[in-house]
Amino acid sequence: SIGLVWFRRDLRVQDHPALHHALCQCAQVHCVFVFDTDILDTLPRADRRVEFIQASLRELDQQLRTLSGQAAGGLIVRHGSARTEIPALAQALEADAVFTHHDDEPAALARDAEVRTALILQRRAMHTFQDHSIFERTELLTQGGTPYTVFTPYKNAWLRRVDAARLADHPVQPYAQALVPRPASYCQPVPSLAELGFAPAGLAQLRLPTGSSGAQQLFDDFLQRIHHYATARDFPALKGPSYLSTHLRFGTISIRQLARTAHALASQGNAGAASWLNELIWRDFYFQILANYPQVVQRSFKPAYDAIEWETGPQAQAQFAAWCQGRTGYPLVDAAMHQLNQTGYMHNRLRMVVASFLTKDLGLDWRWGERYFAQQLNDFDLAANNGGWQWASSSGCDAQPYFRIFNPVSQSQKFDPDGKFIRRYIPQLAHLPTAALHAPWLARPLELEQAGVVLGHTYPWPLVQHDAARLRTLARYAVVKAAG
Ligand code: FAD
Repeated sequence: SIGLVWFRRDLRVQDHPALHHALCQCAQVHCVFVFDTDILDTLPRADRRVEFIQASLRELDQQLRTLSGQAAGGLIVRHGSARTEIPALAQALEADAVFTHHDDEPAALARDAEVRTALILQRRAMHTFQDHSIFERTELLTQGGTPYTVFTPYKNAWLRRVDAARLADHPVQPYAQALVPRPASYCQPVPSLAELGFAPAGLAQLRLPTGSSGAQQLFDDFLQRIHHYATARDFPALKGPSYLSTHLRFGTISIRQLARTAHALASQGNAGAASWLNELIWRDFYFQILANYPQVVQRSFKPAYDAIEWETGPQAQAQFAAWCQGRTGYPLVDAAMHQLNQTGYMHNRLRMVVASFLTKDLGLDWRWGERYFAQQLNDFDLAANNGGWQWASSSGCDAQPYFRIFNPVSQSQKFDPDGKFIRRYIPQLAHLPTAALHAPWLARPLELEQAGVVLGHTYPWPLVQHDAARLRTLARYAVVKAAG
């Protein structure tokens, strides 16, 4: 039989369940990636993620050729709506079945349902496999048979249930002879960015190597320092985290490979690895929240929180623009937003700080911030982003309690004590003494003068006064007090 493997957010050949199953079941296997215009048409014409995918596909194409041992054995790349491209290609190749991975984002579910129906009408099958998380959907349920909505019991169940089989590799090498050359009409190389209608977005200037080789390079580097993770992970000036999130987003590395390594190290008493595994479990947790409660995309997980009245109107719009552009007057918040705008990455501690600032200092709807992150983050992932925003705004399952409001100055003093991160992203404040750097409006006039800082000119006055904003937030959240 003939199989067609549809690559989406799994751009690797190592440990690839759909490719593994197709190669085991079919005599002939083709591989395809669709630059899906249903997604691309919504993006700005320069987007780091498109650049990341394009570069990673070139490597995937090469890996498939090497695996098949044939120059013509690479990846078929299409550019159009996946809803029609996949059924059309399956028909043209006379494929008996399409093999791909589960994707539980609502738009992906709708797309896959449509593709599946079109394939069925052509008397073809669509086989989907789990890949993006270790446990998914309803695989882990409470004793009452409901999905977990609190992280710690979820994590305990995850750790109890995980075993070698669940973390096992899906080898493709032994079965690679089933990979066949592409028909002549599908032999085009991976299209360039220009051919896709996109301009370069500066990915090459970032320290974000692409493809499986880039992911492995980052992972190897991280393994040298994973034992420091628990102590270093909260300080944005340090090289603490793995920087693997974009690779996890596009599947250039397998989550099983990462979890297997972290689990093994954690079992040997490596506290850093245990802490990192905890974050990988958070990732699974938010995937299953999205799968089981898809309404979170539009609404608060806790319905009472939809009664909150957020600020609206021209002043709210202006404050939102200042937040997006890193002009709030709070250096840590602004430095974080500059990091996001310049690199497409933001450190986890800072995501929490800026999200708290947007919702609880500016009183703006978390969905505004969520949308901005979705546009800017290289690692944007609906489940994790929505989970993170609902955590920060207190509307989520197992969220920060509404009355816990980060103080942006004390967060700065605690997590960027030497001001190294702030100085990197706000050079105009670089010469302020560290004590003044966290709250320049409290600096002595002489300190400002010597550092060349003129508030309101070289750096903004704070948009809001935190203590007053905090009281407004407590009043705003009074509507949810009963709901906790
Ligand atoms: P590491 O610390 O090395 O963590 C390893 C991996 O674990 C990450 O790559 C990620 O896949 C996963 N992970 C870590 N923390 C979390 C978490 N809290 N929730 C879910 N998964 C986690 N992460 C995204 O991948 N995409 C997003 O769109 C996203 N949006 C966020 C928005 C907000 C408001 C917040 C507070 C967090 C968000 N996160 C998101 C989670 C987290 O900030 C990033 O995963 C992390 O900063 C990525 O850096 P890293 O790979 O170096 O992380």
